[in-house]
Amino acid sequence: MDKTDKPRVRFAPSPTGQLHIGNVRTALYNWLFARKTGGSFVLRIEDTDVERSEKRFETQLMEDMKWLGLDWDEGPDVGGPYPPYRQSDKMSVYRSYADRLIREQKAYYCFCTAEQLERERQQAMAEGRQPIYSGKCRELDRDEAERRRTDGEAAAIRLKIPEHPIRFHDIVRGNVEFSNEVVSDPIIVRSSGMPVYNYVVVIDDADMKITHVIRGDDHISNTPKQVALYEALGLPVPEFAHLSTILGPDRERLSKRHGATSVANFREMGVLPEALMNYLALLGWAPSGGDREIFPEDDLIREFSLERVTPAPAIFDNDKLNWLNRHYLKQSPPERIHSLAAGFLQRAGLLPETADQSITAWANRLIDLLAPYVDRLEQLPQRASIIFHTDPQAALASEENSQVFANEKAIVVVQGFGPRIANDSPLTAERFKAVTNEIKAETGAKGKDLFHPVRIALIGSHSGPDFDRLIPLIEEGSRLSLPVHVESVRERVQEFLAALEQRK
Ligand code: GLU
Repeated sequence: MDKTDKPRVRFAPSPTGQLHIGNVRTALYNWLFARKTGGSFVLRIEDTDVERSEKRFETQLMEDMKWLGLDWDEGPDVGGPYPPYRQSDKMSVYRSYADRLIREQKAYYCFCTAEQLERERQQAMAEGRQPIYSGKCRELDRDEAERRRTDGEAAAIRLKIPEHPIRFHDIVRGNVEFSNEVVSDPIIVRSSGMPVYNYVVVIDDADMKITHVIRGDDHISNTPKQVALYEALGLPVPEFAHLSTILGPDRERLSKRHGATSVANFREMGVLPEALMNYLALLGWAPSGGDREIFPEDDLIREFSLERVTPAPAIFDNDKLNWLNRHYLKQSPPERIHSLAAGFLQRAGLLPETADQSITAWANRLIDLLAPYVDRLEQLPQRASIIFHTDPQAALASEENSQVFANEKAIVVVQGFGPRIANDSPLTAERFKAVTNEIKAETGAKGKDLFHPVRIALIGSHSGPDFDRLIPLIEEGSRLSLPVHVESVRERVQEFLAALEQRK
């Protein structure tokens, strides 16, 4: 496809930590916009902060993006027409643009020390002025500045902010204007020679012919500085779309305090990528017409528009994510859930690392039985514990259960199992049904009075999966060699009767 004149957008993460949910939403909106418009999605690694940037975070963020289903058309791994895609590989380019700005007197050397700047800041605040740089070094004679530099004095480079308000258009917020009174002459190259974000981002966006800068609104105060740079360099200013902040349910900025916040966290919790994608898409974007919530990828691409991104902060709603995840878990082909879920059961020590065919077949049935009841696959081991064993003391300690056994008949019902399943042959679902019927006839207990005691004895609770599926699973499991022994129905009944006995 010829992509000339098509939008070009980029996701520009700094590889300084795990990919956060806010950042990945930014990536997603860029990606959706590119896919919707037939444009290009660029991945650029912003690693000028050498102390905090690490290769492993770069690798991880690429993996996280791929896991979510976001692919890029250009990037450090796949290349593209405007390399390099990693800022640390582009230092000489940044240097030459800075030299040009100095030459054209659009930027100047600043010799102020950190202490001087701090003093200036304090004074401005004390006088009720904006604590922005005074512009002192702007006035320095050029030759003098050059001489001091050649003498080895440390100097940063600052951009001259123009003497007029800075305006830009934001697709989410409309026209935005910043008075030049509130914008300091920004440092573009530190005295160490290291170029700063506000500067390199502009060079890169311009070099890479980015048409729309879609990013978090924590950058909105940087935008006037960047716009001033485009103007100083005589480069076209792109469109902007600043996405609102994501807040926790307490309306504080979403942070680790609120629980999971990185893509890796959600993956490890057993959230499916399509559920997370669907959820994040709705976190700050409203589809037109109706309150539809289920949006598979293709529908998102078709429906997405930046015009319907809302400027109001988005509140992270775990229940909604869980609900979407349940939906996609149920929609998924069983084989996919089997292999994902088996990983969770292995890590919990319930399944062996390498399982033979009979164990795999058994585990798959267990997963089919229980997965429909979980929000996230991480809950599966806990749910599955009833298939492995029960704790009769704990079961009887519950108020509800102990009330069931306040009725003598309930005890007689469980006792009825003892002699009937005493032999070693496996208990089939049919045999279980026959035994239950015999007990029913013998004791006159039926409905709840019959089934509640039986369930509590077998799984510790009066509600749970159908006996038809539960009994064979328990019985067959008890014959497999698993890392955790599956107690047979017979063992469970015996232990339960013993616990009842002890209670007396
Ligand atoms: N590296 C910046 C960040 O991760 C990119 C900001 C931008 O998109 O301009 O916040």
